[in-house]
Amino acid sequence: EAKNRRRGRAALFDAGLREEIGGRMELEHDLRAAVAQGQLRVEYQPVGALADGRVVGLEALVRWDHPNHGRLLPARFIGLAEESELISTLGAWVLVQSCSQMARWRARHPQAAEAFVAVNVSPRQLEGPDLLPAVEEALRRSGLAPSALVLEITESGFVAEDPHVAKVLEDLRDLGVRLAIDDFGAGYSSLGQLKRLPVDFLKIDRVFVEELGANPRDDLVVSVVAELGHGLGCQVIAEGIEEERQRAAAWRLGCDLYQGYLLARPLTVRQAGALWGPARG
Ligand code: C2E
Ligand code: MG
Ligand code: MG
Ligand code: MG
Repeated sequence: EAKNRRRGRAALFDAGLREEIGGRMELEHDLRAAVAQGQLRVEYQPVGALADGRVVGLEALVRWDHPNHGRLLPARFIGLAEESELISTLGAWVLVQSCSQMARWRARHPQAAEAFVAVNVSPRQLEGPDLLPAVEEALRRSGLAPSALVLEITESGFVAEDPHVAKVLEDLRDLGVRLAIDDFGAGYSSLGQLKRLPVDFLKIDRVFVEELGANPRDDLVVSVVAELGHGLGCQVIAEGIEEERQRAAAWRLGCDLYQGYLLARPLTVRQAGALWGPARG
């Protein structure tokens, strides 16, 4: 009986796999058309100051309104895009959208005048030749101050020893763009990379935030990372704050900024615009 069940599951798995592969090919095909057909959209999730809850910036998160599959989250298609040159097209599009939108908000709303927009960068973009020109183009077209752009890089995603990646990061810094290490502490932690990299923000991964204020080991990790970040001249962001307990602990343990459903979910352009209050008269 157990054997039958196993076989049943294997058959199911094969069917699922076939479907998945078919689905992937379909998605890859569709993704090529998505940018041109205006199916991609950027949502903006606020980043707040722990001291007073004020919104200091927004993280741009891409969504795909697929004609058949509905609203797709990045987990469904970023990996696919990374397997081809599509990531560079998608990345450039997100940069132009985000920089232009933030430039408009900063110009119109006194409360947004100092705000930053944070854009996620895939490791594949860092390894390729297109990122620096895409950033320059987005800043030029939008007129956004370079310091208002933060690029989020996943810690596991780059190898600071790679001379090309190191050069790209330095050139970005020379432009005045700021850098964040995303999902810090998850994946391949390498403190050696921190030593070499000129970063402005450390974003502590959600896995350490989940039990914050309830698990002394996580509290310890977060307080040590906050101290490390400050020592390196970074602002420290706690990601994935959903409850007051976590927010209070992040503040007590020395984090500067926070992000998560407690403050706000990712917002549409219209919803995010309403954060800034009245426009200039
Ligand atoms: P990330 O950069 O670490 O972004 C944070 C993710 O956590 C987002 O998921 C966000 O919606 C979610 N999140 C925020 N607050 C909370 C919370 O309190 N609780 C929980 N459970 N989740 C929260 P999302 O939008 O699905 O994005 C997933 C990942 O996709 C991002 O992780 C980022 O690595 C990648 N991504 C998103 N947009 C882009 C993009 O334009 N380009 C590239 N290359 N990657 C992107
Ligand atoms: Mg991010
Ligand atoms: Mg993250
Ligand atoms: Mg991530």
